[in-house]
Amino acid sequence: MQSIKNLFKIGTGPSSSHTMGPYFAALRIKENFPQANRFIITLYNSLALTGEGHLTFDVLKNTLSPHQVIFQTKIDISLHPNTLMFEIFNNDILIRTIEVKSIGGGEIVFDGLEKEHDDIYPHKSFDEIKKFCSEKNLTLYEYILQFEGSEIEGFFQLVWKQMRQTIETGLSKEGILPGKLRVKRKAKDLLHKKIDEETDDVMENRLVSAYAFATSEENASGGIVVTSPTCGASGVLPAVLYYMLQKNKLPEKRIIKALAVAGLFGNIIKHNATISGAVGGCQAEVGSACSMAAAAHATLSNQFIDQIEYAAEVAMEHHLGLTCDPIDGYVQIPCIERNAVAAIRAINASRIAYFLSDSRKISFDMIIQAMYQTGLDMHPKYKETAEAGMAYFYKTKPE
Ligand code: SF4
Repeated sequence: MQSIKNLFKIGTGPSSSHTMGPYFAALRIKENFPQANRFIITLYNSLALTGEGHLTFDVLKNTLSPHQVIFQTKIDISLHPNTLMFEIFNNDILIRTIEVKSIGGGEIVFDGLEKEHDDIYPHKSFDEIKKFCSEKNLTLYEYILQFEGSEIEGFFQLVWKQMRQTIETGLSKEGILPGKLRVKRKAKDLLHKKIDEETDDVMENRLVSAYAFATSEENASGGIVVTSPTCGASGVLPAVLYYMLQKNKLPEKRIIKALAVAGLFGNIIKHNATISGAVGGCQAEVGSACSMAAAAHATLSNQFIDQIEYAAEVAMEHHLGLTCDPIDGYVQIPCIERNAVAAIRAINASRIAYFLSDSRKISFDMIIQAMYQTGLDMHPKYKETAEAGMAYFYKTKPE
């Protein structure tokens, strides 16, 4: 597995595969071909169908500015769901054609080059990691430090700082999100909508939702977020961490450890399955984010490795089969609310794990395999095309 540094990326929303990935691809091409002054970019499949709502065209045009960019959109299911073909010109002379795949979480793959980064972890599955930790008497955080080096702490601090900042920015804003859906921002309302005689449970639900809405609304408006593991699912983990921080007044060090453990679980999913909605549906995005947040919550609750694993497993198990059908291609409906629901579910999963981990039959590795296979079997129209499920019924509803 690669470094967790490649999982948590700080950048602008609304989509890691449709905005951040294309941005990184265009930037690299612009740097590598300084003589280029004209581009024809063909967007394939999910990028072609939802590129407008995901701001793909805007980010490519802005990154390659001041040069001329002509877009084409095509469907070719023999290609990766998020493929970009760059034809690079100097005036009328074609310099090069480059195919890029945006594989999720802002990660890109150029032509035949399968990997951008080297593996630094010798283990591939959670079972292997658990065995190693038990033999060496390590916590999951100590395991991460052993292979990443202690300087990774500075990286996690940076990531956490950005997560906090995004929540606080989101909580301070009001108004309507960009795009034709005219979706109202709700994070600030949720934060202040305390009801009379509010019970602790209701308050927890309201606050966790407010924090998740805050990040997801920032993401939907092209604000700065951290892929955790993607932009579309970036509200879940920060909401749980921020809630735990506020509620228990925890020292930052404990939040950093929980964030790191969440990153380890996200990394295992990314390595063995997918975190891309266009490849595996929303179970791969919000399902993965829920697993990560459940592992973080269990870590903050001082649970054992088995219980942390169980929390992450339960969180994914109950997202299996979840489709990706963003209305009009905007990362708004169902995405924003779905982040809030998943954040609450993550806390539930961690609490179930606390009581029931000794009776479990499904491992984290098994649920990841099940999620990936379900994603591969899922009909392509349910994987970030905005042409099925809610997106279809919304589009065809009578005026
Ligand atoms: S439905 Fe899920 S996977 Fe699809 S864009 Fe929204 S958050 Fe991402």
